[in-house]
Amino acid sequence: MASIFTKIVQREIPAEFLYEDEQVFAIKDINPVATHHFLVIPKKEIATANDVSKEDSETIANMYAVATRLAKDHGFADSGYRLVMNCNEHGGQEVFHIHLHVIGGNQLGSMV
Ligand code: AMP
Repeated sequence: MASIFTKIVQREIPAEFLYEDEQVFAIKDINPVATHHFLVIPKKEIATANDVSKEDSETIANMYAVATRLAKDHGFADSGYRLVMNCNEHGGQEVFHIHLHVIGGNQLGSMV
């Protein structure tokens, strides 16, 4: 079954798109935890960080490039932000289609 993010990129479920190319897309998180909270998502359905392989290198690099571009475009690259990919239960992963959280725009609490 298609993940919720695949349904979003196929426009079956609405979302606020920020970016899209052949490999990745970015949307606003529906439940933001900071002033800015975006998700950068590969079109390929990779379930967890554990499932990333070397053949995904370009896609993963593209995800980071899009994430940093979004931070710059939204004016919080210099003040700082957090890039997070949760993995499995203890990591708090809820959607099993990898995604990079881009969180910023205000002072974030210490996580580790
Ligand atoms: P994670 O816990 O790392 O799997 O994160 C899943 C994220 O997806 C959460 O921050 C949710 O708020 C977000 N999310 C779930 N459904 C949607 C949706 N329909 N549109 C945008 N963000 C969503």
